[in-house]
Amino acid sequence: MGIPLLDLKAQYLSLKEEMDQAILQVLDSAKFIFGPEMKTLEQEIARYCGVGEAVAVGNGTDALVLALKSLGIGPGDEVITSPFTFFASAETIAQVGATPVFVDVDPVTLNLDLNQLEKRITPKTRAIIPVHIFGQMVDVERVLEIAARYDLKVIEDAAQAIGAEYRGHKAGSVGHAGTFSFFPTKNLGGYGDGGMVVTQDEHLAAELRMLRFHGCQTKYYHDQIGYNSRLDEIQAAILRVKFKYLDTWNEARREKAAVYDQLLQGLPLTLPGRDPQAKPVYHLYVLRSERRQDIMDKLASVGIASAIYYPVPLHLQKAFRYLGYQAGDFPVAEKACHEALAIPCYPELTREQQEQIAGAIKEVYR
Ligand SMILES: *Cc1c(COP(=O)(O)O)cnc(C)c1O
Repeated sequence: MGIPLLDLKAQYLSLKEEMDQAILQVLDSAKFIFGPEMKTLEQEIARYCGVGEAVAVGNGTDALVLALKSLGIGPGDEVITSPFTFFASAETIAQVGATPVFVDVDPVTLNLDLNQLEKRITPKTRAIIPVHIFGQMVDVERVLEIAARYDLKVIEDAAQAIGAEYRGHKAGSVGHAGTFSFFPTKNLGGYGDGGMVVTQDEHLAAELRMLRFHGCQTKYYHDQIGYNSRLDEIQAAILRVKFKYLDTWNEARREKAAVYDQLLQGLPLTLPGRDPQAKPVYHLYVLRSERRQDIMDKLASVGIASAIYYPVPLHLQKAFRYLGYQAGDFPVAEKACHEALAIPCYPELTREQQEQIAGAIKEVYR
């Protein structure tokens, strides 16, 4: 019997009765779009994050696009983000017609290197998108301080970090806007696509609500060109069931991570780097090793899944060739792409399974 990277089936079975009931209730209500489940989920997540507003959208990518649009970012603007993240963090900048500008990441946390941020700011810079990679927050307050000096907006890409904290502040709640993804494998995942934008700014929230629904406030009166991007009632009901367990699950992930930290210490590999001010949610537990392929092969040979996050830094993606970056531009991100490997870390993982995984990794170095 193997060990998957994430066990969504086991999670479903643990919630089956409650979950089936929630889904059937939506079917019975025959209200599928813009109903009470979405509205309640928005209120629950706004309260959880300690912000005034939450706007549910179709997915985490749309959440970024709509956040950028609502802040008025478009052609001629530059937006700074990390080269070590999922493609959408920068793709969305290009989607609104702006130019992605990359800054290398910190060698310990693999989040944006804030010491290098300022030198990439130009008169065209309008916003910064810090990404809380693998569920550990970057120091967003410091990002905001830097941004304030240049009159820039900050959008937190918190797709991997719902529930994470930095000095007691929840991911997504510190910047002008924060975005979440409810893709099935995220810490709070639906059974399909989903996303959300949170903000303290009610005017921004009104703009986001208009943008997600064809630029329309009053039905059939369109004030601007918008999008069709909303969270359906079935997904919202599913997410509301799971949301009750989010803190418990995130705590369990931290416990699994602590067990790995202990089981794997002393080996010639880099364990996930911690910022002492951050309370991470371990969306992924990512090791770094020059012998990544050997570790992957060994794990695969005993039926244990592992995965590379991310094989190619964004500045070297084919789609961004037009930006003119070259290998060597961001050495920390490039090295991480050669060495990073996620091993199974999810709430249902047992101590025995973790010992088995750590044992297999140790054998590589024997
Ligand atoms: C998953 C993810 C997204 C995109 O979310 P989708 O819901 O898949 O569109 C954006 N940024 C990061 C960092 C992600 O991990």
